[in-house]
Parts: sequence; structure tokens; C-alpha cells
Amino acid sequence: MAALGEDLLSTVNKLQDLVFNTIGNDSLDLPQIVVVGSQSAGKSSVLENIVGRDFLPRGSGIVTRRPLILQLINVPDDDIEDSSRVGYRNPNEAGRNEWAEFHHIPNRRFNDFGDVKREIENETGRIAGTNKGISRQPINLKIFSPNVLNLTLVDLPGLTKVPIGDQPTDIEKQTRNLISEYIAKPNSIVLAVSPANVDIVNSEALKLARHVDPLGRRTIGVLTKVDLMDHGTNALDILSGRVYPLKLGWIGVVNRSQQDIQGNKPMEEALKSESDFFRHHPAYRNIATRCGTQFLAKTLNTTLMAHIRDRLPDIKARLNTLMGQTQQELASYGDMHFSGKEHRGSLILQLMTRFATSFISSIDGTSTEISTKELCGGARIYYIFNSVFGMSLESIDPTSNLSALDIRTAIRNSTGPRPSLFVPEMAFDLLVKPQIKLLEIPSQRCVELVYEELIKICHTCGSTELSRFPRLQAKLIEVVSDLLRERLGPASTYVESLISIQRAYINTNHPNFLGAAAAMSNVVSNKQERERKRLIQEERERRERRRLKELGANGTETPEDDEEAVTEKVDPVALRKPAGKAGRSLSPAVREAGHGGIAAALNGARSASPSRLNGQGAGSAKDSFLNYFFGKDGAMVPGAAPHNANIGRHVNQASEPTFSQSIRRPEEKALRSPAQLAPASDEFDFLKAPKGADFGNGGEPAMTDREAMETELIRALISSYFNIVRESIADQVPKAVMHLLVNHCKDVVQNRLVSELYKESLFEELLYEDDAVKKEREKCEKLLQTYREAAKIISEVI
Ligand code: GDP
Ligand code: MG
Repeated sequence: MAALGEDLLSTVNKLQDLVFNTIGNDSLDLPQIVVVGSQSAGKSSVLENIVGRDFLPRGSGIVTRRPLILQLINVPDDDIEDSSRVGYRNPNEAGRNEWAEFHHIPNRRFNDFGDVKREIENETGRIAGTNKGISRQPINLKIFSPNVLNLTLVDLPGLTKVPIGDQPTDIEKQTRNLISEYIAKPNSIVLAVSPANVDIVNSEALKLARHVDPLGRRTIGVLTKVDLMDHGTNALDILSGRVYPLKLGWIGVVNRSQQDIQGNKPMEEALKSESDFFRHHPAYRNIATRCGTQFLAKTLNTTLMAHIRDRLPDIKARLNTLMGQTQQELASYGDMHFSGKEHRGSLILQLMTRFATSFISSIDGTSTEISTKELCGGARIYYIFNSVFGMSLESIDPTSNLSALDIRTAIRNSTGPRPSLFVPEMAFDLLVKPQIKLLEIPSQRCVELVYEELIKICHTCGSTELSRFPRLQAKLIEVVSDLLRERLGPASTYVESLISIQRAYINTNHPNFLGAAAAMSNVVSNKQERERKRLIQEERERRERRRLKELGANGTETPEDDEEAVTEKVDPVALRKPAGKAGRSLSPAVREAGHGGIAAALNGARSASPSRLNGQGAGSAKDSFLNYFFGKDGAMVPGAAPHNANIGRHVNQASEPTFSQSIRRPEEKALRSPAQLAPASDEFDFLKAPKGADFGNGGEPAMTDREAMETELIRALISSYFNIVRESIADQVPKAVMHLLVNHCKDVVQNRLVSELYKESLFEELLYEDDAVKKEREKCEKLLQTYREAAKIISEVI
């Protein structure tokens, strides 16, 4: 029976070791004896007596400030083989075969119990601070000795009511919780220590014990300080269980008093005095064998054995649960046993396929892990095409980088020694080609952005399983990145050619091209618009002046009426008046007259000369100029342009909605890009300040009216043509990128991965496991191994 008991305890100790050393927690909930009681009840004293060694820090204040898990391990005595010598009084053998070990200092044997005490103090201070604070982190101490019975004991901080030092205000609650935690475990035996000199009714230990063990099944009552009871009183009622019945009974002890401790009374002596005390005390004489530390130790041992025997099936069941859980966790790391070569290959293939699938589905937007917070994958590509690329194309101003001077120079250069008779077509060709080049940067950027997006996608394709193999993951990303980079060249080259193609031939016959005639009318209408505004303004001023002069005349007219009136007067007349018959064959004299007319109108507008404010005159001047250019009546009249604008080879078809809108509705112009409107400021600045013109003759204005007109015309033509090309590029670049980059990569990614990485020689390297993940997995494996061992240990005893 005893042997079985020892076996059991050694089993539990083995399990405990296993648990402490490998698991580091008490998930197994092994049987142990937990000492509880109020501060100074004598808990540490009881433990010391059981161990038979003076090793616990003691004092009047709160000394035990961390749980101390004390494993007593009986080791055979070297000198005396007789196992019956196991007991508590081996006064002269101290240190020979006795030592202590702390879990936090592995492999160090403490032979001096004074050192043990100091280490407990240091270790307590290390975690709980030096000023009375407590910590729930336990200290693990093993005592190996031929003089101990195998026991696992837990010393806990005592309950205190009033916080002192660093103790938090809720120190009582904290301590109570800590104690409760230990004693609540059904595998704990509660050693409820109550001092005999305090009314048992006030025993904190019993209150705590009753809370977790209301039936008193696993509580042992320990009555300390029996020697300190008032004379004439004794603890027989309590010890017999009549006051407070406990199934496991009550045991009275006499520990060393504070005086004994200060006087360094040897433990052996103390134990002897205790035994003497009970044997000679009239009240306890008869129950002396069931009193004292020695009896307590034996009782604890047997109780623990019985308890363990009771608990082992539960522990075994618990072990099975733990093993199941650990096995499951281990499985989450994937199949680790790919020692076979086919095994490794198929694992790589599997991870590769998943990676490729994830890459493709991210692009297609069919991925299961679609973010709701930000655009990702395919949606990002769509966004790049439509918003980023689209916007950047839209924002290009096709003529803002062309100054009036540039345009005039181009016109002059293209016409050679003689001024062109017609629209300076060559100049347009010359100027529009570099402008088309403006589309190249945003187009190339579009390719790059999509490429970058694909790179990002391939970085997010890893799974948790794949993260186990960082090298494989890196390789997968590398191969896909290489593939993408490979395709970047062709995609970008193609896009470059798209722009070159556009520049190779300027198709002025494009149905949507504005054409010279419409452009001209655009220019004219802009001029007219400006001019009209001036005229209105001047007319208004004139009237105002007149009104001020001629008292009372037209006093009822409002400014709006004025404008209306002027509009009626100037605009329609100017625009609708049939033009003169003069055409291309006009004599230079007439041409000059035409120029003069325009110049007059412009100059007149600027100088505000009343004599030139004749709308009729301005209108005629323009008409003659238009006729000189295009030779047909009314062809350029904005209102009529959409219907009659089929004259000349640049003349637009009637189907040019945007432009006709733009010339018909001045308010819409404001919404259009400034470049699409003839920039008046350039022109007039130029007219005002012709300093840059080195080819002008002396005081002559550097840019003639005709040149100004032509410049604006060219601008309108460039804008119109540019818009056509822009539209085409906006359409073709995304298609090209999809075909040459995105779709191509989607199509070949799987094959590429296989051909690059599915190589027997690479398997080893690719399946190198991540250190952290590997550690986790190994920890898990070790844990499982421990549980298996524990289960084996248990199965040997039950
Ligand atoms: P703990 O706080 O519960 O661990 O109590 P301790 O074991 O540190 O003891 C508190 C004080 O009570 C110490 O000074 C001990 O010497 C004293 N003490 C403990 N038990 C007895 C006993 O049975 N008799 C006498 N006379 N003093 C005791
Ligand atoms: Mg103590």
C-alpha cells in the first residue's frame, strides 16, 4: 500500500516535472496541497516543519508575496539504505544528500538552505518589487531530501485587510482571488491554517476553504500556536472536529515562536519540543499521536495519495482532451511529414497552384478575401484605367505649351518665302506631332501603375500555410515578379508605338476632325464674342454718358435692357449680313482692306474710339476676312456653320457636335478645357508686347492680325485633332495593357511557376521552414509528446 502510494506520488511528481519543464503551466491541474490562512497564521512555519528545514523567509510583516510551489522529493540516503529511516529527524546529516533547486535557475543545486531563503527573497523582489507588493507569478522550488515525504505544497501570501507599502488598495481582493484560484481547483487539497489563539469563528482560512469546498471534503484543518492558547483553554473541541467538522480532520501543531526563530532554534529541536508539548500536555496527551508536524506530514502524504488515486482518471481524461487539442493545433501547421520525394513535390505543386489561383482570382475579383476597405486587385486596375489614366489624359492641355510666337514661327517656317494662301496646313502638321507626344508619359505611367499593382497583388497571394515556407513564398513572388517584369517591356513598347503610330500620320480627314473651316469660325466667333462684349460695354458707357449729358432722355432703360438692345443691334447684324463677293481672287488691295478691317475692329475695341463702334463696320471687316480665307458666303458664320460647313477640304462635316456646341454656347466654353478655347490673353499680350519678335521691321507690330488669326486657328485645329488622338489612346492603352500584361500573366503564371520551380533539386531549399513557425510547431509537437508521456505514466499506475 505504502509502495503504491509512493509510486503514485512519484508519478505525480514526474507529471509535475513534465508539466513544469515542458508546458510551463498547470493545464493538467495536478494534485497539490495549498496552504491558506490569514497573515501570520503560521503557514510558512508549517511548511518548514514539514520539510524539516529552515528555508522560508520569515518575519513579522507580509513575507510570502508570490505563490511558492514546493515539491518535496524523497531521495534515498546514501549512507543508510534502509528506507524506514525516512523521517524528520536526521539532525547531523544536513546537506549531505539534501539540496534544493529552483525552476528559474535550472541545474543549480542549493545545498545551503540559507541560500534558498535568500533566493526566495530575491526572486520575490524581482517580480513583486521590494515594497510589500504581491505577484501571482509562482516560484517553483524543489527540495530533494531523504528526510521528506513526496509532497507538493503551495505557500501563498496571507490575507491582509489593510494595504501597506506598494500594496494596491484592493490588496485583500487580489490576495483573495489569488488564493481562491489555487484552492478552487478540484485537485487541490486545502490546508487551512488557523491560529489557535484566535477564535476559530474568525478564521479566514476556513472561510476561504468553505467557499470552494463547502462539504469539507478536501480541506485539512491545521491549528497552529496551540502553545499560545490562554491558560485553562484547549483546542480539543476544534481538533475533534466538533466545532468545525472536516472529513480530512484537524491537526494541532506547535511551530517555532518568533523568539525561537530569532534565537536560531534548530528545527530538530523545535520538532522535538513540539512532540514533547503534545505528549506532556494534559489535554492532548491522549491524542498526542494524532498531533504535531510529523503526523501532519504523514496525513498529508496519505491524503495526497488517496486524492491522487481518486483524481488520476480525471487527469487521464484531461490529458486526452489536451492531446486532442494539441494534435489539432499541430494539424493546422499542415502536413509536416513530407520526407518522401513525391510528397515534397506534390506539396510544392499544391502550394504553387494555390498561389497562382490566388493571383488570378485577385485580378478577376473573385478572391474570397476581398477587402471592403480599399480597392484591391482587379478593381484597382480598373480604377487605374478609368480614373488615374483617364484623368491624366483629360488634364493635358494640348496647346498650353505652345506660345503664339512658337506657332507663328512654325507658320512662317512652313510657308517658306511666300505667305500661305490658305490655312497653314504644314504648320499644323508640324505642331501637332510633338503635342501627341504629350500623351506618352501618362500612357507609360498607366502601364507602370498596372505593373506595380500586379506586383502588389502577387505579394498578397501568400496563405498562412505558405508563410511556413518563406523561401518558397519568396521564390513564388520572385518568379511572378520576373514574369511581370518581362511583360512590362512589350507592353510599354507597344504603348510607345501606339503614340508613334498616331504621330506617323496626321489624318486630317478624320470624321471628327474640326477642320479648318470650323476652326476658323471658332476663332472668329471667339473674337466676335470678345469684341461684342467690348462693344456692348462701350455702347453702355456711351449711353450712360449721353444720358448724363442729355437730361432725362431714356431714363427708364435698365442696363440689362441696354445689353439686350446692343446685342440685337451689333451681333446679328454683324453675323448675318451677307458677306461681300470677294473671294480668293481678291486683289492685294482688298486683302489689305480685309486686314485693315480686322485690325480696325481690334484696335477700335481697344482704343474705344467712338467712331469705330459701328457694328456694321466691324462685321464687314470680318466678313471680308473670312471670305478672303474661305471664299464662300456665310460659311463661317457661327450660326450657320453646322449646316454649311462643307467647303474646303478641311471643312468639317455637319456632325461635329462638341465643336458646334462650343461655338454656339459661350457659357459652355467655360466648362471646357481652356486650351480648347482660343487663348485670348496670349494673343493680346503678344500684340501689346512684341519684343520677342526679331523678324519684325522696326516699329511694325510683330504679329499681324492675320498671323494672330492664323495662330488661333492652328490652336483650334491642334486641340481638335489632339482630342481625337486622346480618345483613341484612352481606349487603346488599357486594352493593350490588359492583353500584353495582365491577361498574358494570368494565362502563363501557373506554367511559369511550374517550369521555374518544380525541380527536384530545389525542393529541399524551397521547403525550408520559417524559424518562428517551425519553433511554434516544434513546441506543439513537444507538448503533444509530453502529454503522450504523461498519459503513459498514468496508465502505468491505473
Ligand atoms: P505566515 O504568515 O502564515 O506564513 O506565518 P509565519 O509562519 O511566518 O508565522 C508568523 C509568526 O507566528 C512567526 O513569528 C512565527 O514564529 C509565529 N508562529 C507560527 N506558528 C507558531 C506556533 O505554533 N507557536 C508559536 N509560539 N509561534 C508561532
Ligand atoms: Mg508566510
